[in-house]
Amino acid sequence: MSKKITLLGSTGSIGTQSLDVARMHGYEIFGLAANSRVERLLAQIEEFHPQYVAVVNEEACDKLEGMLSGRADAPRLLRGAEGLRTLAAMDGPDVVLNAVVGIAGLAASLAAIESGHDLALANKESLVTGGHLVTDAVRRRGVKLLPVDSEHSAIFQCLQDANSAKRLEKILLTASGGPFFGMKTAELAGKTKEDALKHPNWNMGAKITIDSATLMNKGLELIEAVWLFGLPEDRIQIVVQRESIIHSAVQFADHSIIAQMGVPDMRIPIQYALTWPDRLPSPVEELDFTKLKHLSFDVVDEETFRCLAACKKAIRKGGLGPCAANGANEEAVRLFLQDKIGFLDIGRLVEGVVDSDSYGGDYTLEDVYACDAMARAYVKAHV
Ligand code: NDP
Ligand code: MG
Repeated sequence: MSKKITLLGSTGSIGTQSLDVARMHGYEIFGLAANSRVERLLAQIEEFHPQYVAVVNEEACDKLEGMLSGRADAPRLLRGAEGLRTLAAMDGPDVVLNAVVGIAGLAASLAAIESGHDLALANKESLVTGGHLVTDAVRRRGVKLLPVDSEHSAIFQCLQDANSAKRLEKILLTASGGPFFGMKTAELAGKTKEDALKHPNWNMGAKITIDSATLMNKGLELIEAVWLFGLPEDRIQIVVQRESIIHSAVQFADHSIIAQMGVPDMRIPIQYALTWPDRLPSPVEELDFTKLKHLSFDVVDEETFRCLAACKKAIRKGGLGPCAANGANEEAVRLFLQDKIGFLDIGRLVEGVVDSDSYGGDYTLEDVYACDAMARAYVKAHV
């Protein structure tokens, strides 16, 4: 069945893999959005002919405008963060896929939902920073929130039998452990961005790759799972699965466990979010059990990987706690990628922000942005 998609964050790792899926199934692209990589965006425009394109970075938008001038088939250009929100809200697509990185994706998620669109969500930061706003809007508007994150897609797939889903007892959220699995604090102290950017199993954008090395990514995913599946943090167990073959599992009241497996390729969960509840032929190879000799399991080391401990504290505090942890992390990762702070500083700063306030209670979107700004300021003041 043909689909029309608006794809936000099209120039990134998830964005380009989403276009692989769209290409394979002949899906139509209604709108594309990106921040700065205009050459890549131009190639996507030439291939997929979207009706609208949003570019957040002003200079990049000017550059693309110049590149498109005089072309009869040029899409309508939308500018800045406002343009991104406008595109997310536009009527036309069957589904909006949000693959923007960071809290920059939150307003677009809310705009898409409020306009009545089903949302395929890769941007986990939307749920981490504004989980209660996003889930309230989903309920109010009666739209579908379809997880793209591989672990959450796995859990979602394991819960398709409604009778069993009612008896969900526990989620087993798997983690690869990242490039520094097994290392202790002393060894981590000297790790550079080059070390951290080498992920063993997945090829992803820079920010989430650093998050995987610090285990912040697993902390963000734990919070994401709380919002998506409604279990408290203490019923979500993190299980290290080094090969990234089991993408997560669920345990029911009778202690039967169902897991979802497959090769580690994001195009499987991306496609499932776009085709749910149907399944289409895969864009990737099958898992070869003649070559898969073993699967290994281990426990996470929260004593060493403080970002994960900080995220657990943040979700237990509730309210804006997770937003503060996320804001501190975004700022700390930015500084780490500029070689301005060390690897262990990321965890220290995220935990410092979480410990600095009680955070509980309801919040508005304005409160979310104020908390994000506070957390970034905290990081700058404590480097
Ligand atoms: P990338 O860094 O590869 O891509 C990010 C995308 O967001 C790019 O298109 C980028 O535009 C755009 N972008 C950056 N800043 C802004 C902004 N301020 N406003 C609007 N758009 C912006 O990231 P990934 O694709 O790796 O990750 C995207 C999201 O998906 C993240 O939330 C991540 O946690 C999640 N995710 C990613 C996985 C992966 O395998 N990569 C797996 C599971 C989840 P440009 O490039 O033009 O600057
Ligand atoms: Mg994931």
